[in-house]
Amino acid sequence: MVYVAGNPDAYPLEYYDREAECYAGLFPQLLSRFSAQSRYELVYYPTQGADRRSHLGKNLQVDLLSGYTQDDSLPSGTQAAAVLHASVQGEELSCYLCFTRAAPQGLQEELEAFFAAVPQEEISGLLLETPSPTGTPAGLYPALGALALAVLLLVGALLLIVRRYRKKLAKTVEYVESDLLTSLGNADHLRRHYKKLVSAKNRVLYCLIYFHVDTDRLHRLTSGDAADEVLRFCAQTLRGYAGELDVLAKVSKHGFVLLKLEENPAQTECWVTEALHKLRTYPQVYKKAFEVSVAACIYPLREGEALDEMVFQAGQEARAACDRQENCVIFSDATLKKLHLEQKLRATVEQALREHEFQLYIQFYVDAKSQQIVGGEALSRWLHPEQGLLLPGIFVPILEGEGMIHRLDYYCLESACAFLQELERRGVDHFFLSCNFSRDTFAQPDFALQCRTLIERYHFPRELLIFELTESVTVRQLSTIRSNMLALKEYGVSIALDDFGEGFTSFSDLQEYPVDGIKLDKRLIDNILTKPGSAIVRAMIQAGHELGVTILAEGVETEVQAQVLRDIHCDVIQGFRFHAPIPEAEAMDEILGHIQQGTAPL
Ligand code: C2E
Ligand code: CA
Ligand code: CA
Repeated sequence: MVYVAGNPDAYPLEYYDREAECYAGLFPQLLSRFSAQSRYELVYYPTQGADRRSHLGKNLQVDLLSGYTQDDSLPSGTQAAAVLHASVQGEELSCYLCFTRAAPQGLQEELEAFFAAVPQEEISGLLLETPSPTGTPAGLYPALGALALAVLLLVGALLLIVRRYRKKLAKTVEYVESDLLTSLGNADHLRRHYKKLVSAKNRVLYCLIYFHVDTDRLHRLTSGDAADEVLRFCAQTLRGYAGELDVLAKVSKHGFVLLKLEENPAQTECWVTEALHKLRTYPQVYKKAFEVSVAACIYPLREGEALDEMVFQAGQEARAACDRQENCVIFSDATLKKLHLEQKLRATVEQALREHEFQLYIQFYVDAKSQQIVGGEALSRWLHPEQGLLLPGIFVPILEGEGMIHRLDYYCLESACAFLQELERRGVDHFFLSCNFSRDTFAQPDFALQCRTLIERYHFPRELLIFELTESVTVRQLSTIRSNMLALKEYGVSIALDDFGEGFTSFSDLQEYPVDGIKLDKRLIDNILTKPGSAIVRAMIQAGHELGVTILAEGVETEVQAQVLRDIHCDVIQGFRFHAPIPEAEAMDEILGHIQQGTAPL
């Protein structure tokens, strides 16, 4: 997600349309097209028509500052980039975009290339289609005072022109406002109808429901074509829920909004759950082997909130619900508070990395039989100066979204190496430590090399370091990840597959990846007291052992779970039943105080 702060007052290049409550003009149109074609999703920061560019830019709340023309002075610390030239009524105009430090790497180049490829004629065409913000066609007023015959003739001629113009405009609007993939309306379509349908009086009767389809996951599991098919299926299914006074639109690459007049709000959750269930039946209907992840956020319309803001917030919540594998959430004041916190964190995360606000915590692993500590997992914590201790569930998605997760991963790896070196210096040479890596980090072509260079600076037995790779690996990234794994293994470190058994990780992955260990996902352990649950885990452990792989269970919370795992020969256990994550200094003291010498490492 890339945030843009717009210029409300640079008509026709960019301006704030107060009636539609959104940015309009040439720039927003082109940025929306760029958004549809590229891997970035560009969203205008909702400002309700105020020019907040320098404020938002200074706080790094946005990635781009838009709508500077040749007459403006640029904000300090930025320089003009991604310039677009246009000719308006014979006058040459240029519009500039500035990038803040928060902008993802590579975005500038791609945007510049995109602008450079837009032909001048097309720019002129788009400018012609840009309606005046007042909406009053020039030239109508003089006609009113003209003489009768002349007036009649003139009005007649004008009417003809206007009718033709309107027809053309209607066609253009239809085209510009439609989503080419699903032929539903797009975000502009939603805005226009929202303006028409929703008033101060009937507002309380409307509900906005955002459906998020995890297209990233679909791209990982299948081809892009299959993901498109799923989106078309979703559009078709959701059409069945849109009444005559409702608006259904596809507002982003992975999001649908249904603006619905609710006769019975108590029923909303019910039919949304049913709709989600139908959306998930795609694989059964079309005999596909993958799952469709989808979730929704129900957003009752709020007094004084602009449409873009509501869509944005509902989208964030639906996406988060999807990540948590939840079905449907209802937007509340608490949600709003959480969103504001995320926004704040997003603005300061870069500085936090620079100022080492992230710290290493360690959660011990114990041997399943002896229950002795044998190793630990390195987990990051953010010690925020105002918010206190923050967990990865909050900041990892922010860092991933900002393209900065590799910086945290390398930082955590370096801290882990320093920890192992210190243990070795103190005479402990059999405590293994595992590190988490986001798949984006693992898929960087120079990942193995970077790690090697970093590890080289520390002295400890390499096999004590374990790299954990999470399940969700894209097919596209597979070969790079495999070669990184092989290079790392050759260098002596071990590899474990994290969250095994969740999503699509399966035993076939064990053939693809040269792994030393697998970590059974907490969800498998949660079900281990049921008959099928324990049968599945038992089979996994057996197969893993036959392949010579060490089996680790995560999220063990009770003694009964631990006992079942012992009975079915799990090797290593991690969970609150034994140890919670603790700061590295405490972990060091504990290991030095308690560890039993001679326990075998993973
Ligand atoms: P994970 O790799 O699955 O790590 C295990 C998570 O489960 C940890 O959460 C841990 O505190 C929690 N946990 C352990 N035992 C139990 C238990 O018995 N019950 C319950 N309910 N939870 C338990 P944490 O520390 O909040 O980390 C969450 C996730 O964030 C981790 O999941 C890992 O994927 C990710 N993460 C943490 N640090 C980093 C990092 O430096 N880089 C990256 N890329 N990801 C990280
Ligand atoms: Ca892990
Ligand atoms: Ca896990």
